[in-house]
Amino acid sequence: MRKNRILVTGGAGFLGSHLCDRLLRDGNDVVCLDNLFTGSKDNIRHLLGNPYFEFIRHDITLPIFVECDQIYNLACPASPKWYQKDPIFTFKTSVYGAMNCLGLAKRTGARVLQASTSEIYGDPEIHPQPESYRGCVNTIGIRSCYDEGKRAAETLFFDYHRMHGVDVKVMRIFNTYGPCMDIDDGRVISNFIIQALKGEDITIYGDGLQTRSFCYVDDLIEGMVRLMNSRDGFTGPVNVGNPCEFTIKELAERVIKLTGSSSRLVYRDLPEDDPRQRRPDITLAQKELDWAPTVMLEEGLKRTIAYFEQVL
Ligand code: NAD
Ligand code: UDP
Repeated sequence: MRKNRILVTGGAGFLGSHLCDRLLRDGNDVVCLDNLFTGSKDNIRHLLGNPYFEFIRHDITLPIFVECDQIYNLACPASPKWYQKDPIFTFKTSVYGAMNCLGLAKRTGARVLQASTSEIYGDPEIHPQPESYRGCVNTIGIRSCYDEGKRAAETLFFDYHRMHGVDVKVMRIFNTYGPCMDIDDGRVISNFIIQALKGEDITIYGDGLQTRSFCYVDDLIEGMVRLMNSRDGFTGPVNVGNPCEFTIKELAERVIKLTGSSSRLVYRDLPEDDPRQRRPDITLAQKELDWAPTVMLEEGLKRTIAYFEQVL
């Protein structure tokens, strides 16, 4: 007897495929929904023969009916390179996708978790960022399709909760990395590792003094599962991320050291609206979920480098 039937939208992506693995290991029945925009069947190939795993190729901007007890809504490209390719579709994915998941949760009585993001804080003037901070987001820039789409999705989650009593959980995910990131993903850690392993120039955007706080994927998935199974009435939003903060230049230097690469650092234009600093305040996650990250950057980078060494 399986524990729960769980729908994971975006289940063939980076985080989604790790989540599917984890939920199956925990004895659940998993339905993975994905349109394969940035995700890949390769990420879930090892699960396709598992009788407790099903894959549905579907676009979450369109309604779907699946019997389920829990929904994790992860469908949305997360890398700036990909979410800016078709910004209108990114916005639709966030907003219609949230509405379709919430409608399904309303009909089935399922609990639903939204993969929100630190991007809802925009280019923050408060540091580190607590959940109470309302953010500094450009409504009309090249990142807005993602940032404002995710903000609107949060609004929908709380309106469905207040109006229809839908059981919601909102998680604000800070930069997460690890094995199974796509070679073409374009986010900083996979870019730097691939460039270092190939001996190519390492592309730093801007002066490299902007900061990010990087969370290893296993820690993030643990936080996500804890939030889904947290006490009734706890909705979040809750920050989940690793509060150790690094400049992008420090990150590049670490990757060079750990790979033993001879790559050089080269500087490129900083993309518009690139946030200057980012670090989660995780007090709430510690209190409500008894969660804190356990894999620090050095160890996480080693594991991710080992993965890309195999793939390349
Ligand atoms: P990803 O791009 O690897 O995964 C996203 C998945 O969603 C892909 O499999 C993609 O094909 C699928 N998808 C996109 N649009 C869809 C649509 N319209 N219908 C169905 N499927 C669709 O990115 P990820 O890093 O795994 O991110 C997963 C979720 O977590 C996203 O919602 C993202 O916004 C959120 N998030 C991730 C991070 C991070 O650092 N990894 C940070 C903040 C938030
Ligand atoms: N970045 C970089 N070189 C790259 C990719 C990204 O210097 O090859 C920078 C980017 O400008 C940003 C930071 O690294 O300041 C994190 O970028 P990423 O796309 O990973 O995530 P986000 O900006 O959404 O946090």
